[in-house]
Amino acid sequence: MNNIYQEGKDFAKSYILPYTELADKESRFPEESFQKLGEKGFLKLLVPEEFGGYGKGLVEHTQACLAFAETCSTTALCYMMHNVALMCINTYGSDELKKKIYTDIVENGKFMALAYSEIGTGTHFYKPEVNVEVNGENSTFNGRKSMVTSGTHASYYLLLAPSVEEGKINNWVFPLDSKGLTFEMSNWNGLGMRGNSSCPMNIDNVTLDSSYRVGPEGSGQEQVFNVVAPFFITGLAAVYSGTAMHMFNVISNYAAERKYPDGSTLSNIETVQIHIGQIYKNAAAARAMTVDAANAGANGESDALAKILAARVFASETAIECGTLAMRVGGGKAYNKALPIERLLRDSYAGQVMAPSTDVLTVWLGKALTGQMIP
Ligand SMILES: Cc1cc2nc3c(=O)[nH]c(=O)nc-3n(C[C@H](O)[C@H](O)[C@H](O)COP(=O)(O)OP(=O)(O)OC[C@H]3O[C@@H](n4cnc5c(N)ncnc54)[C@H](O)[C@@H]3O)c2cc1C
Repeated sequence: MNNIYQEGKDFAKSYILPYTELADKESRFPEESFQKLGEKGFLKLLVPEEFGGYGKGLVEHTQACLAFAETCSTTALCYMMHNVALMCINTYGSDELKKKIYTDIVENGKFMALAYSEIGTGTHFYKPEVNVEVNGENSTFNGRKSMVTSGTHASYYLLLAPSVEEGKINNWVFPLDSKGLTFEMSNWNGLGMRGNSSCPMNIDNVTLDSSYRVGPEGSGQEQVFNVVAPFFITGLAAVYSGTAMHMFNVISNYAAERKYPDGSTLSNIETVQIHIGQIYKNAAAARAMTVDAANAGANGESDALAKILAARVFASETAIECGTLAMRVGGGKAYNKALPIERLLRDSYAGQVMAPSTDVLTVWLGKALTGQMIP
């Protein structure tokens, strides 16, 4: 894989586009697209080369998410979470855990998801309250995660739980077939991102041995802030700037094609030209900030954190603004759902509440820019 963005665009046209409307209408996980993501190698984009993957990093992760989101926000979001969880295994997983998970991804097309948020701590997912009892090598978990994207479809869930060390946390890998792990599929009824299957997960006496813990005891916080955060926050920036660019493509094509009885088009009207210019300008700015942030993160630049936070906040807000304006340009057709703009606008509303929400991230950005500790 050399030009991930272009290959992602080509892939999306053939294997994501056919299912994207259905995913929204029926709130149905895009299973066919994920099967093809495995067959065509995208699920192993970040798996190290020595384990049969492509060994790529933050820049390529961002390009793939952007490319997919320009066709389907929901598929891009689920794919993004897989890469984030995988990256944590790459960086902190034991050899045993790596071998097990990589084999399943590379040979069997399996994928991962994130089980972090809880009802109680909400957007502050880095303070988990799941109950953990340790008995020698085994840990038994009880609790509930509130929204788990790709619930029941992913084979491995990166789950955040308190450590036995006071005030610390751990990342664990929960296999889908763990005894005591169930999902409340019927409790997913999202406004947008409807193909996500972001349902609650119930953890009833799930017992795992310590080989399923990622990294040393109590190292979860370091993992969340050093690895999960850059891949997750940049990935979300890619999903929402891709969504905004998708809105531009839909509405500019529509405006050029919609004809009045005198033969003129919607796009001949100056006010519409201004709106379309505004949508493009903001979507392109969000995309440029996202790509710049990914490069800064990959190169370890000193302002990478600020760039990543700013890109994510800007992309999330921009997608909502572009969608609002595109709905106006799309007129009755957009309102009556003859155009996919309303779906994209619904999808974009997830951006501002997904943890850490844009409000929290804006505060963090201010802190990062003034040399203060985050969170
Ligand atoms: C489409 C979708 C998919 C998701 N998928 C996953 C997933 O795969 N895994 C997962 O773990 N979670 C997932 N989530 C959950 C999500 O990431 C959030 O944790 C959850 O939606 C927030 O929970 P809450 O409503 O209790 O937020 P609350 O904590 O109640 O926050 C609500 C709002 O209060 C404000 N707020 C709260 N605290 C502060 C603060 N300190 N400073 C400023 N403002 C603040 C913000 O505006 C925030 O949006 C998903 C959510 C969505 C919408």
